[in-house]
Parts: sequence; C-alpha cells; structure tokens
Amino acid sequence: MPDQALPGSPATLHDAYGRHLTYLRVSLTDACNLRCVYCMPEDITFRPPANLMRDEELLTLVRVAASLGVEKVRLTGGEPTVRPGLVALVRAIRAIPGIRRLAMTTNGVRLAELAQPLAEAGLDQVNISIDSLDGDRFRRITRRGDLQEVWRGIDAAEKAGLAPIKLNCVVTRGYNDDEVAGLARITLDNPWEVRFIELMPFGSVAGFQHDQVVPSAETRARIEAALGPLIPEPGYDSHAPAQRYRLPGARGQVGFISTITAPFCEGCTRLRLTADGRLLLCLLRDDEADLLTPLRAGANFVALQRLMAEAAYRKPWGRGREEHEGETAREMSQIGG
Ligand code: SAM
Repeated sequence: MPDQALPGSPATLHDAYGRHLTYLRVSLTDACNLRCVYCMPEDITFRPPANLMRDEELLTLVRVAASLGVEKVRLTGGEPTVRPGLVALVRAIRAIPGIRRLAMTTNGVRLAELAQPLAEAGLDQVNISIDSLDGDRFRRITRRGDLQEVWRGIDAAEKAGLAPIKLNCVVTRGYNDDEVAGLARITLDNPWEVRFIELMPFGSVAGFQHDQVVPSAETRARIEAALGPLIPEPGYDSHAPAQRYRLPGARGQVGFISTITAPFCEGCTRLRLTADGRLLLCLLRDDEADLLTPLRAGANFVALQRLMAEAAYRKPWGRGREEHEGETAREMSQIGG
C-alpha cells in the first residue's frame, strides 16, 4: 500500500470555503475513567471494542490524512490514556511521514505514570483538563476524580518535557464560574496556558442549559477584576480558536475558547476522526463520513484518500449552533472536544 498521494489522486484536504485542513483530532476511545457532568451522562454505556478502530486501522487512516497534508494530530477521547497499547500507538503515529506535531488532550489522571513513556515515544505536548482547584468540587464535576492525581500528572508532564502545557477549564455556571480568577492565577508562576472554554450545552447531557454557558467576556471580566488587565499576546488573532492574553508579569498565558459566543469557523483547519472511524466534519454539526466500513471492506489507500478528500470538501460552516441547539447526535465524549 503506498504511503504517499499518487498522481491523479487528491493532493490536499480543503473545503468548499477554501479552508485548508491540516489538523486532525483523533479520538482513541469513547471510554473514560471520569464522568464529567457536562460531557456525558453518569450511566453512559461505551461502545463495544469491536466497533472501534483497531490500531492498524487507525494508523492507516492517519497515514491517509498525512498523505493529504495533515501535519498536526491531537489524540483525544473519551480518555485517550485508557486505550490499551497507547505508547506504541503514539510511537507509530509520530513515525508517519508528514506528521510534525503530536498532541494529546487528557484528564491527566494517568499521566503520572505515562508522561515519560509518552514523551519518549514522541508525544510533543499535552492539554490537561482541570475545572476546579478544590478537591470536593473537582469530584462533583468529574463525579469520581481525584484532583491530586491530576496535579501529579501535570507535574510529570512538565518533568517529561511535554510542552507547551495547556490546562483546559470548561466554565460552567454554578459549578466553577466563581473560580476563574484562581485558575488564571496559576499562570503568574507557571509557564503554562490556562484556557477557559465556553460550555457547549449538548442537549443529551442531562440538565445543561444555555443559561449555564458563561460567555468568555464574563469570565474575562471576572479575571480582570481580581488580577488586573489581560494584555493581548503578540500575534493575537480573533479568528484563532483561542484568544491569548497575559496577566502583567505572568510567566504563562490565559486563553479563551469561545465556541458559543464567537465561533472561529473562519480559521478552522480541523477534522475529527471518531473512535469508530467516522470523519466528523464540524464539532457543531453532525455531518460525517464513515471511513471504517470501506476500510474493512477492502478499500485501498487511494480509494480512502478520495473518500477523505471528498468528505473534507463538504466541511460545513459551523456557525449556527443556535439553530442546532441540542441536536448533535454524539456526546462530547464520542467526539473528543
Ligand atoms: N478526557 C480528555 C479530557 O478530559 O481532556 C479528553 C476528551 S474531553 C471530551 C476534551 C475536552 O472537551 C476537555 O477539555 C473537556 O473539558 C471538554 N468538554 C467536554 N464536554 C464539553 C462541553 N459540553 N462543552 C465544552 N467542552 C467540553
């Protein structure tokens, strides 16, 4: 099977709006060792392993994407660190020609043991989710997590040289919106980026409503009231997924991801591969293309390139979350954020 695009086959992934798609987020599993309230129902049933991509299948699809110009891959989930054989998989993905950057989004629970082997296998950077600095609250939000494990994971990631370290915080009214200044304060002494993510109120997650979304502007105002003005970082781009700022004198940065109040569709370069082998074209919509079924039916590399390129071309403009409120068929845990 050839690893590179052949003459006559599509050369790159781009869509009808002229966006060039170079970033693939790969969900390794929909399973998770936490049950965050805004992400999944407590009694969720995960997909049977037979429905998920096997390692070789996943690697083939990443090779196809890389042959079409994808340069950055982010591993996510569910929780990527609960996938068996993760370190070997990371090594294999990093070895794919064209992949220049390999990142992971994780809850950090297993990072104390895994950060070093993952770094040695070629993982470049991690985003670690941390929604509260209070152990009891953290457990309430995650329904089972131990905050100290996450801190040990962050520490291990830093020691392993995974950089930059980004900490993800989903701001949810009534859960942690009063803590955002404390979370931002972390950046004063640490060279990390703390990113505040607007809650996406997926209709399927019990009880989460639009009024629990805390707009980034409100989060920002709270932080500035407590800690002083946030200064836009050089290269600030209002179309980028995260708007980056710095507190005066801080070692790290504060970022805002405003999927609800300021969608960044114009600058979107992303495609998502779900753990069951579907190319999901937009976080805010259900449009997807099944790649695993053709792969299992014997589609060759060139056929998969065509399928991927044709699907990518159909990538929708995601703005319009309001019209689609609560209608996306997949849980966040099945998409990977
Ligand atoms: N388990 C990993 C983790 O905790 O980071 C990776 C998967 S998780 C789905 C990826 C990111 O999506 C996390 O930062 C999580 O907080 C965020 N997330 C989950 N549900 C969300 C929602 N309804 N709205 C906004 N962000 C959400």
